[in-house]
Amino acid sequence: MAHKLTTCTFCGVGCGLYLETLGNQVVGVYPSMSHPTNRGRICVRGWHAHEVASSPDRLRSPLLRKNGQLQEVTWDEALGFIVTRLKEIRDRYGPDSLAFLNSPRCSNEESYLLQKLARAVIGTNNVDHGGGVYCNNSINVLLDMLGVAATTNSVGELSQSEVIFVDGVDLASQLPTIGGVVIRAKLHGAKLVVIDTRRHRIAEHANFFLQLKPGTEAMLYGAMAKVILDRGLMNLPFIMAHCRGYEAFLQNVRDYDLLAAAEGCGVRAELIEAAALAYAQARSAAILYSTGIEARDVETVEAIVNLALLTGQIGKEGAGIFALTEHNNLQGVCDMGMLPNRLPGYRLVTNDAARAEVEAVWKTKLPDVAGLTTRHLLAEQGHADLRAAWLCRYDPVRTAFLGDAAAMLQQCELVVVQHLFWTDTARFAHVVLPTTAFGEERVTFTSTERRIQLAEQVIDPLPGTLPAWQQLALVARGLGADWRYDSAADVMDEIGTVVPFYSGASYDNLAHEYGRQWPCTKDHPLGTRFLYSEGIPERAFTFRPAAGRPQAPAARWDYPLTLVFGHSMYYWHQNVMIQHSETLKREYRILLLDYPEGFVEISSDDAKRLGVRDGEKIRLHTICGSAVTAARVTPEMRSGTVFVPYFVRQVQQQIRGSMDNGVQSVPVRVEKEAD
Ligand code: SF4
Repeated sequence: MAHKLTTCTFCGVGCGLYLETLGNQVVGVYPSMSHPTNRGRICVRGWHAHEVASSPDRLRSPLLRKNGQLQEVTWDEALGFIVTRLKEIRDRYGPDSLAFLNSPRCSNEESYLLQKLARAVIGTNNVDHGGGVYCNNSINVLLDMLGVAATTNSVGELSQSEVIFVDGVDLASQLPTIGGVVIRAKLHGAKLVVIDTRRHRIAEHANFFLQLKPGTEAMLYGAMAKVILDRGLMNLPFIMAHCRGYEAFLQNVRDYDLLAAAEGCGVRAELIEAAALAYAQARSAAILYSTGIEARDVETVEAIVNLALLTGQIGKEGAGIFALTEHNNLQGVCDMGMLPNRLPGYRLVTNDAARAEVEAVWKTKLPDVAGLTTRHLLAEQGHADLRAAWLCRYDPVRTAFLGDAAAMLQQCELVVVQHLFWTDTARFAHVVLPTTAFGEERVTFTSTERRIQLAEQVIDPLPGTLPAWQQLALVARGLGADWRYDSAADVMDEIGTVVPFYSGASYDNLAHEYGRQWPCTKDHPLGTRFLYSEGIPERAFTFRPAAGRPQAPAARWDYPLTLVFGHSMYYWHQNVMIQHSETLKREYRILLLDYPEGFVEISSDDAKRLGVRDGEKIRLHTICGSAVTAARVTPEMRSGTVFVPYFVRQVQQQIRGSMDNGVQSVPVRVEKEAD
């Protein structure tokens, strides 16, 4: 038997694990005891990570649509067809008639080459990743206020935090390894503050559980800032040395009223005060929030960063801001420039000097107008001029918030799908390209703590498949680009020349220890455990006062409850990797036995008032439509709030429909449905 250290590719924690191989088969998985993030622990998904590669459902040959049917063809025929059609469509309709979208599960190398193909070869900034709908708030605020779009500190440091805030992320089910670190820190004396509408497992361990009304998070953080200011607990030396915008922030917070905020948020004033004092008085305090579907709005992320700046909880061990990524490479795909308005390294496409830096490496002119987001391209009637879509490991037809994706893809003259498996989206493809799987290729991913890690090749690729990055390079060459990459390591070498904070991240360097946390530069090849550890530049940070003092959303008499969306344990069932792992598929089917057609969670109080019992049918009405589903009656929900798990797409599509990007809560009326 052989054993090789690699990286779990299920979620953004990026646990270190070993793959055990016998011949050309992965026969087992076990955790790395010394990996600094997971230290001997992995979750149920990690234990079965190897089953995906051996799934009998893998695609084994390129497919090309002929006479309306997808048929197996050679690689030469499939790639030749793509090259011809891309040229024709670009020449006939212009570069912005094409879009290049990927999943936040794609490797750094394939993400980098996909956006380079779009920008440097085709000439469009229509590039985006599937997590874009939810995570861009966080990216923009962190860049604006801290200058860095990432988690500031390391997961392992949470064991030294004196106070940990967990805001809106169900760690136990979504990022279990981090959940374990937080609970152990609590057991060793850290104070745990949980802020959420739902009482999930981590809330059971909290010193202070602030179960607030949805949409009032910014108000809650503003009230905490007011408490800190009133008690004189702000860190003035830190603020004066490192921050701008303090005066305007003071103006904004000065007339906050704790009691009014407590009423608006539905949280007792004493709890808000206790949480604020704990945070401000701690030597090191960290705030964890989600960049996934539960992601906070712009005002809330700004309020979180304001609180950290006010108390100087940045730039020291065990403190900081943790913008948690649930998908395994959401951080990496953003770093690589899979954003319609940002080039690799977060350079704005509209900034001439920034664009010129990338043009110098790629030796071509780049488009200077921001592209369209996934949502603009595929939802809300879509982009009428869209003629071709390239989808790398991405299945938008299964995405709840892109109700129009199927119709938009159907109108395209070319849809290219790269994937391991047949997907709902592949039904609309003109070409399907089978990719290699975890364990079959050597590529990198960047975890939620900025850790760039190798996922190692331990077995030969399935015959008939090719690495996605190689497919992209072959198409670019067919289109006349001089792309010469013999391996994914060559791609990473180029990434190092384009993305300054990856400049030291060669494969040779990443193969040591457990990858490197960016910034990983030639001068600092060992990487950076926490940001600003070598000193914070003067005036590096910026307070952002809310444009207007946040108000609690007004209740409507005709829609008296509030609907919120988010992940649940059941969501895993819909993950493409779970669906093709024999053990995990079985486990998650069992979870769904009680609610085979999905459910929404409703509080015991509301259920009693409506005369609804667990498992009974209820109808949800919003201004966009209505949907029927089963009620899961639970004391975990706050009264007045209804929760729709992400996996219940049918319900979301029917009731959320064309709502604006970033809307996280919706007024709703609930009625018992007659049998
Ligand atoms: S916590 Fe995430 S990275 Fe770690 S084993 Fe589980 S799925 Fe894999």
